[in-house]
Amino acid sequence: MSGRYPEAVEVAIIGSGPTGATYARVLAENRPGTKVAMFEAGPTVSTPPGAHVKTIADPEARRQAQRLSAGPAADAETVAHPGEVKGGQLRARPGTFLLGDGSTGSGTDDGIDGEDGLPVAAMSCNVGGMAAHWTGACPRPQGGERIDFLPDLDELLSEAERMLGVTSEAFDSSPFSELVRTRLAAAVNGSRPAEAGVRRMPLAVERREDDVLVWAGSDVVLGDVTRADAGYSLFDESVVTRILVESGRAVGVMVRDRLSGETHEVRARHIVVAADAIRSPQLLWASGVRPLALGRYLNDQTQIVFAVRLRDAEQPDAHSPADGAPAVGISVTSGVTWVPYTDDEPFHGQIMQLDASPVPVAEDDPVVPGSVVGIGVFCAKELSPDDRVEFSDDRVDPFGLPAPRIHYRLSDYDHAELARAREAIVKWGRAIGDPLDEASFTLPLGSSLHYQGTTRMGLVDDGSSVCGPDSEVWGVADLFVAGNGVIPTSTACNPTLTSVALAVRGAREIARRLS
Ligand SMILES: Cc1cc2nc3c(=O)[nH]c(=O)nc-3n(C[C@H](O)[C@H](O)[C@H](O)COP(=O)(O)OP(=O)(O)OC[C@H]3O[C@@H](n4cnc5c(N)ncnc54)[C@H](O)[C@@H]3O)c2cc1C
Repeated sequence: MSGRYPEAVEVAIIGSGPTGATYARVLAENRPGTKVAMFEAGPTVSTPPGAHVKTIADPEARRQAQRLSAGPAADAETVAHPGEVKGGQLRARPGTFLLGDGSTGSGTDDGIDGEDGLPVAAMSCNVGGMAAHWTGACPRPQGGERIDFLPDLDELLSEAERMLGVTSEAFDSSPFSELVRTRLAAAVNGSRPAEAGVRRMPLAVERREDDVLVWAGSDVVLGDVTRADAGYSLFDESVVTRILVESGRAVGVMVRDRLSGETHEVRARHIVVAADAIRSPQLLWASGVRPLALGRYLNDQTQIVFAVRLRDAEQPDAHSPADGAPAVGISVTSGVTWVPYTDDEPFHGQIMQLDASPVPVAEDDPVVPGSVVGIGVFCAKELSPDDRVEFSDDRVDPFGLPAPRIHYRLSDYDHAELARAREAIVKWGRAIGDPLDEASFTLPLGSSLHYQGTTRMGLVDDGSSVCGPDSEVWGVADLFVAGNGVIPTSTACNPTLTSVALAVRGAREIARRLS
């Protein structure tokens, strides 16, 4: 042993979000007993480790878990409702913290002239990563969002759905769910191919027998099979500061124990960096692994929101399932409806009681519960190698890793598509209800929390990708990357299902090599 860590393992996984957890699960299922060490910089905040914080019944304990997930900002004040992010305020959603310095565009103290930046780029630092706080929307990519060079993409997506426990049926008994869908379908479906019609949103949630909704986190991805595997260990409060590379092969990691402050070397045959789309490239950079495309093609989905009051919504008397924690997230009354991306309309709609609605729903307003819904639209970004996260050679972040700096600009194409999306969202809103406001609201860039492209996958090593189809980094054997950064296409749909699917492929390759 080296401190609390083993001296050597077969597989080291950096990051305990759903994509890191996918590697552990696939190995537990296919190669039980494999010595796997998962290192997570943040603390354990829920039980079992990685569980969604909404499974914490006590509101104060839940707030504490969210606070502890905010890494270096754990002691800073955060805003309880993200709808309050307005007019230059820079606040993170509960459970996340802002990248801060280096993330903003012009017009702020830290800004870079002429760039838009990602002023509210944020991340989580806890066992389970962002998926201890997420909404759980798991749509499949459509049209140009799909990764054409992966012939097995659909099978991988099915496997990802199994890992995340995805269902479209959790809200079937929700009284307004059908109402929203029918009205929206009448306004939207006519101009679309049948497969892109309005439908129920697939969600990573289980509706228990007692009707309580349990939102999936990394705990669900790991499953009992991983937790019971004698080879699997999770080390929280453990920051990996470097990947060791010898003769073109990854051979181990340096890990700093945040509890003791000591740094240890752990040797590994295979290494998976699943540390999110900002911190995975950061760790590669810190380790001297710097493919041309590293940190480039950064893309986020600009988010527009619009709120409406459902017309003719009668007080429901049907029994609705109870949310695991009613204070957070989706209304169980209106469910979640999905307007899929199409190549003609490259944006994706999510209709629910939006926790990011800019229009506060007054508590003393005598509205029928669940009848005020938010429409959120995510827009696909035009990809450019110039949109990037760079890392400093002389400044460090609060974890001692190279400080990131974002360069990000919306193109003319992006502005034109945003204008179309703003028109669409108002049209969709009017179809289902009475708008609470005249115009839609465009959230500050970075709000979607869906950063992609920075460790992107490619079919060949031509300088425009960081890893191959199995997620192995070009030129460094046995080093794999996981997470939204691996997605090479411009997507508007929520990315986690896709990145879990890509992780399944990489994990199978490791399992194959171990056999
Ligand atoms: C409020 C909210 C709502 C969301 N809703 C949705 C949704 O509906 N649908 C969807 O698809 N996505 C959603 N997301 C995004 C989703 O949670 C992420 O896409 C997903 O968690 C990414 O998984 P990951 O494993 O790649 O990374 P993460 O979950 O971000 O986990 C990465 C982990 O790596 C750790 N780490 C980083 N660097 C190091 C290091 N050097 N050493 C050790 N550990 C390190 C971090 O602490 C973190 O815990 C949402 C996120 C939030 C916060």
